[in-house]
Amino acid sequence: MIESWGGLATSGVEILGDKLENLLRDAVLSRGLGRAYGDAALPANPKDKVVSTRLANRILFFDPKNRVIEVEAGISYRELNRVVWRKNLAIPVSPGTEFVTIGGAVSADVHGKNHHSAGSFGDYVVSLRVVLASGDTIEISDSKEPELFRAVIGGMGLIAHIASVKFKLEEIPSPWIEAETFVGENLDEVIELLEKLRDFPFTAAWIDGCARNNGRGIVYVGRWSKKRIDIPKAPSTVSVPFRPPCSVLRNLSIELFNTVYFLAKSLSAKRTVVSPYSFYYPLDGVNNWNRLYGKKGFFQYQCVIPEDAGKNAVKELFKLIWKRGGLPYLVVLKDMGSRGKGILSFPIKGYTLALDFPFTKENIKLAYELDAFTIECGGRVYLAKDALLTKENFSKMYKDSIDRFQEIREKWNKDFKIRSKMGVRLFGDPK
Ligand SMILES: Cc1cc2nc3c(=O)[nH]c(=O)nc-3n(C[C@H](O)[C@H](O)[C@H](O)COP(=O)(O)OP(=O)(O)OC[C@H]3O[C@@H](n4cnc5c(N)ncnc54)[C@H](O)[C@@H]3O)c2cc1C
Repeated sequence: MIESWGGLATSGVEILGDKLENLLRDAVLSRGLGRAYGDAALPANPKDKVVSTRLANRILFFDPKNRVIEVEAGISYRELNRVVWRKNLAIPVSPGTEFVTIGGAVSADVHGKNHHSAGSFGDYVVSLRVVLASGDTIEISDSKEPELFRAVIGGMGLIAHIASVKFKLEEIPSPWIEAETFVGENLDEVIELLEKLRDFPFTAAWIDGCARNNGRGIVYVGRWSKKRIDIPKAPSTVSVPFRPPCSVLRNLSIELFNTVYFLAKSLSAKRTVVSPYSFYYPLDGVNNWNRLYGKKGFFQYQCVIPEDAGKNAVKELFKLIWKRGGLPYLVVLKDMGSRGKGILSFPIKGYTLALDFPFTKENIKLAYELDAFTIECGGRVYLAKDALLTKENFSKMYKDSIDRFQEIREKWNKDFKIRSKMGVRLFGDPK
């Protein structure tokens, strides 16, 4: 059985091995640490050969002077952070968990708290070694097969398998973060704070999604610190050992949790030097926290509302959720900078909202309504989080990129040999 982070499962077997290029030659799908929430890393057919890159985690090349590194696709942020932080370097863009492979980061063209100031991961990729559907391995970059390069970045593993990634690191004074928190008593205030604080390289807001008709929140900002030079220790973690039959995060406890969290953070709002683990990866302290949602699992609705649609559109989206009685368990709001380099990259200038919902009939219905609203605003849903988009809505959201992406796919991935369950759902690929 192969599972997604949100709890979707398919029959099939993952093949693990460290001779990555050999294994990928006849693979149908490559998979990293399985952190995509929906079906992006699930096979379309249980018989498809799914190759897990997890054991291919070597550093292949390092040029400290130019800050260029080449790694095998299966190395994780956790493994690489340990190495580069010691050299006053950092991976320039990081998602909200360290349990993501660099191959997965390229495929989703991930963004982080610094998207408004630094763009997405693809912007730092110098070149990729990819295994094509034909079984050949080639190197691609902005100058070698540039169209394919831009299709693989953000291409959700649907066009070629990534064997290794060469990219540019960022120089940092230390791995510690000088962090500050600000309180927004309602959505207007939170959005204003995010705009006012754009000079900070890192910004993101946590919103109390249960505070109906209000949307109060805490804005987190930060920058790399010059005040500490020691190497931060990874925090100890606790683990959720199994998936309980039903969710332990019930509505009442989540409302209570959000209220307590908001009050505690409001009272303790201050400027302080914090470990990158608590700043970047607060959820990593509990291993497999996704299991708390029980057997039915959960989904994350992450969309971006373009700047042109206006700030009011963000408020309207919340109003729609509250009107339907939706209670998102975890809500993050972040302003996005410029468009990603990949043809299918998610980021566009505007506001991105990520909302966790347990899988219930009502919440699924709500997600379809949110899709309609997002389309009306000219926005789109993030494929790395998506489990529910229809082919029709997907083509409306990514209308300026799909034809170009499919043309490149047809050229390099004949008969759609490389495919996933998501590819069948969104592109109508053969099973
Ligand atoms: C708690 C949490 C927080 C997150 N926060 C963020 C965030 O802040 N920003 C953000 O952008 N994303 C975020 N994500 C999403 C995550 O960064 C992406 O889903 C990422 O792609 C997961 O990487 P992975 O190694 O787990 O890949 P998987 O989930 O295994 O695969 C994801 C996709 O990448 C493809 N893929 C993986 N490896 C390869 C390869 N070698 N070659 C070709 N294709 C490949 C797969 O086919 C699949 O389509 C978060 C996820 C979680 C669980």
